[in-house]
Amino acid sequence: MIAAVLRGPRSLAVTTVLSPTPGPNDAVIRVTAAGLCGTDYRIWTGERAVRYPLVMGHEFVGTVAGIGSAVRNIAVGQAVAVEPNYSCGSCALCREGNRNLCLSRVAVGIDVDGGFAQEATVPARCCWPAPAGLSTERLLMAEPLAVVVRAVGRAAPAAGETAAVLGVGSLGLLAVQVLRARGCRVLAVARSTRRLDLARELGAEAVALSGADDDTAAARAFSGREGVDLVIETAGTALAVEQAVNLCRPGGRVVLTGLPHEATALNFFWVVRRELRIIGSMIYQDEFPEAMRLLEAGAVQTDRLLSRTFPLDRIDDAFEAHRAPDSIKVAVIPPAD
Ligand SMILES: [Zn+2]
Ligand SMILES: [Zn+2]
Repeated sequence: MIAAVLRGPRSLAVTTVLSPTPGPNDAVIRVTAAGLCGTDYRIWTGERAVRYPLVMGHEFVGTVAGIGSAVRNIAVGQAVAVEPNYSCGSCALCREGNRNLCLSRVAVGIDVDGGFAQEATVPARCCWPAPAGLSTERLLMAEPLAVVVRAVGRAAPAAGETAAVLGVGSLGLLAVQVLRARGCRVLAVARSTRRLDLARELGAEAVALSGADDDTAAARAFSGREGVDLVIETAGTALAVEQAVNLCRPGGRVVLTGLPHEATALNFFWVVRRELRIIGSMIYQDEFPEAMRLLEAGAVQTDRLLSRTFPLDRIDDAFEAHRAPDSIKVAVIPPAD
């Protein structure tokens, strides 16, 4: 089969490799599309260390091409979205249901080979059957949507509450829609005006430009009180964490789902003074079914989020496109045979 093999920083070779052989509990997925995200980009540049050679790609969907002898949850020919993480299943965290926090968690496309290839082998329990008729392009959003479903769920929003979404990349634009589906009023806040119109089209009732506008004043005006009830932070920057605290009303909740890689100069005075709850949200536990349900119900629009697709052999171009200011989600399409 053909795979994009990362041999070192910015060194990808699209080449023929041996097809994977599934173990008894594994499934072989014929990949129909694989999305790129910031994590892939950092691995590609070498900023994030991995072992080489590696086939990256963790946001992928496809068709089940083969299953091991013990697999019962999926069948050959089924379209699936892959949950690209699996835990040990036996540690205290796993046993109490916190499998996303397992210290032995394996990330497909990061720790082991992933979906920038014609085929990928994953444990069958990582495969979530797609609702009938759901297009590959929509199914591709299942993984980032599962991240967002968890982040929003961690804030436990009530209908009629006000929410601010920080950052309007793919996660932020999905968060706007999931919050709307939960009955919240949404203020979208971003550093650039580029996608604020799109945020409005996808359901944000108001938008604010951070930096130029006084976004704290915008949050007060929008909520009609001291700030919004909850903030979903998707930007993954230290500044966004501080900003999230400033937008939130006393007694409100802040969910952080972006992963800031730098230290945050957060003034915890305000966390105590406002009695804020700051809640981390790490990927997903059991959110894929809800993500599928939202996609199937049409509660979430995805067509505006997939900016460009490239054939797998142009994956370098796909990484460049990922960094383009106007791009939201970029995906690669492996050759059919
Ligand atoms: Zn990702
Ligand atoms: Zn575990």
